[in-house]
Amino acid sequence: MTTTTQNASAVTSRDVDFDAIGIGAGFAGLALIHYLRGAGLSVRVFDKAPDVGGTWAWNRYPGAATDSESYYYCLTFSKEILQEWTWTKRYPGRKETQDYLRFVADKCDMWPHIQLNTAVVEARYLADRACWQVTTGTGEVFTCKYFISGMGMISEPVIPSIPGMDRFEGPLFHSSRWPQEELDYAGKRIGVIGAGATAVQMVPELAKTAASVTVFQRTPNYILPAMQQPMTPEWDQEIKANYDAIVAKCRNHVFGMAFDSPVGRNVIDTPPEERQRIFEEHWKGSFRWVFETFDDLLASPEANRMAADFIGAKMRERVKDPRIADLLTPAFDDYPLFAKRPPLDHGYLEAFNEDHVHLVDIKNDQPLVEITETGVRTTKAHYEFDIIVLATGFQAYTGALEAFPIIGASGQTLREKWKTLSECIMGVCVSDFPNMFVVTGPQAPFANLPTSIEQNVVWITRCIEKMEAEGLDVFWPRREAEQAWTAHTADIHVQTLMNEGTKVNSWMMGANREDKPPRVLIYFGGANFYYDALEESAQKGFPELEFERRPEHVS
Ligand code: NAP
Repeated sequence: MTTTTQNASAVTSRDVDFDAIGIGAGFAGLALIHYLRGAGLSVRVFDKAPDVGGTWAWNRYPGAATDSESYYYCLTFSKEILQEWTWTKRYPGRKETQDYLRFVADKCDMWPHIQLNTAVVEARYLADRACWQVTTGTGEVFTCKYFISGMGMISEPVIPSIPGMDRFEGPLFHSSRWPQEELDYAGKRIGVIGAGATAVQMVPELAKTAASVTVFQRTPNYILPAMQQPMTPEWDQEIKANYDAIVAKCRNHVFGMAFDSPVGRNVIDTPPEERQRIFEEHWKGSFRWVFETFDDLLASPEANRMAADFIGAKMRERVKDPRIADLLTPAFDDYPLFAKRPPLDHGYLEAFNEDHVHLVDIKNDQPLVEITETGVRTTKAHYEFDIIVLATGFQAYTGALEAFPIIGASGQTLREKWKTLSECIMGVCVSDFPNMFVVTGPQAPFANLPTSIEQNVVWITRCIEKMEAEGLDVFWPRREAEQAWTAHTADIHVQTLMNEGTKVNSWMMGANREDKPPRVLIYFGGANFYYDALEESAQKGFPELEFERRPEHVS
C-alpha cells in the first residue's frame, strides 16, 4: 500500500473537526492511527477506558492471557517494533499485552491522537453535511468525515437476569469489569457463574489464594491445554529472524494464525493407531492441535467425533474424581468440537482436584434460583460467598455497536437494523451507514484478531485514499452487496459444524443472548479467503460501495 506521511489533513471536502474518528484504543484503534495518519488524515480515537489496550484494558481478571501465541498476536506494520519488542512467554498475560500496546503507542507517537476516559454516547450521520457527528459522555461534540468502530467483537458483556443480583452485599461484577483498583480476593470465598474461556483462565489463578472457588456450570467445554512456555533467547531469535514468513503464514491461514496447515491428510482416512500417534504427537498446546493434525476435524462429523473423543479422554485423565470429570467433559453427542469456542487451559481441570475448588452442575442437577444478600441459591442448596463473578460472556460482534445509538442516513440505529439479522458487507461496511467503517464487524471471520484487524484497516485506508484522491465525498454501501455477502456467509455457515452452536448457546451465533434470536455472525469460509476478497475488492475499486461527489465539493 502506498501512503503519504504528511501530518496535515488531506481531507478537503468538508469542514469537520477530524477527518476520521475511531472508537476503541486497542489493537484496532492503534492500527487506525498508524494507517490513517500515514494517509495524511487527522485522526482521533476515543476510548472510555483509562488506558490503551481495548480487551486488555478491561479484562483485568486474574489469569487473563492471550490464547493466540504472543509472536503472532501483534501488529505487523513496523518491522522495527517486531524486532524490538520481546515477549516473555508463549501466551502473555493481560498486563504484558497492554504494555506491548503502550510500547507501540509510545514508539509511534500515537498519544496525541488518543482521548481516554471518554465514552462516545451517540454517533449520527448528518446527511446535509455528509459527515458524522460524535457526542461524548461529557457533552463534547465532534464532527468527522469518516466514522470508524474499533470497539472489538467481544467487548460488550452479557449480564444475565438472575433474580436478586442487586441484593448481594459483596462485590458482584462481570468478568470484563473486574475492578480497575486491586481487589483483594485472598482468603475469600468466590462464586463464578459461567464456565467458558474466561472462567477457565480465571479459576486456577483465583484458586491459588482464595479460601474457596465455586464454579456454576451449565454447559461443559472441550478444553484444550495451553502448555505455557517461557520465551527463550533461542526461540526469540528464531522468531525475529523469520518474521516475514510468520506474517505471511498468518495472512494465508484459515484462522489467521501462524500455523502449518493444511497438512494434507484426513483423520477418516487414517488407520486408528496412526491417528492416535498423530493426535498424541501434536498434543503440545494451543489451537495448533486442531489445525496441524488433520484437515477434516472441523469439516466432517465423523472426524469431529474422533477429535472430541480424544480431547474428552485427555480431559478425564487430569481430573481425579470421576463424577467431576463426567460433569466437566462434553461428548460429541452433546455437541461437536467448535460449535462452542474451545477454551485453552492453564490448570483449570487440575484445580478441581483441590478440596477448596467446587463444581456445581446448574443444568441437570441444581439450576440457579437466585442471588441472595450472602450468596447463590440453587434448587438444592445455598452457597455463601464474599465475591461473585459473572463470567457470562459477551454480546459478540454487534454488542458494542448497539450499546449506544449509531444513527445512519435514514434515521435508524444499528440496533434497529440488526434486530433479526446482523447484515454487513465483509464485516466492514453497513448499508444505510455511509462513510462508516467497522473493524471486524459481523460476518467477518473469527480469527487471530490482530491479523484480521490489520487486513481490515488496510482495506479501509485504501478506500479512503481512493476517495481523497478522486475528490469523493460519500460512500454508500450497496444494499445488494450486503445481501450477497450475508447470503454467502449463511451458505457457508450451514455447511459447518459451527452451525450447531444454537444447541449450546454459542456466542459465535449470538445464541447466548436473551434479547435477540440467534443468527449467522461469522464468516467461516476461511480468513485467508476473506483477506483475498478484501484485496480483490480494493483492486477492483470497491464495487460494494457507491461513491458520491457533492456538487459543492471544494478541492
Ligand atoms: P462464554 O464462552 O460465552 O461463556 C459464558 C459462560 O457463562 C458459559 O458457561 C455460559 O453457560 C454461562 N452463562 C451465561 N449466562 C448464564 C446464566 N444466565 N446462568 C448461568 N450461566 C450462564 O464467555 P467467556 O468465557 O467470557 O468467553 C467468550 C469468548 O471471549 C471466548 O470464547 C473467547 O473467544 C473470548 N475470550 C478470549 C480469551 C483469550 O483469548 N485469551 C479469554 C477469555 C475469553 P452456557 O455455555 O450454558 O451458555
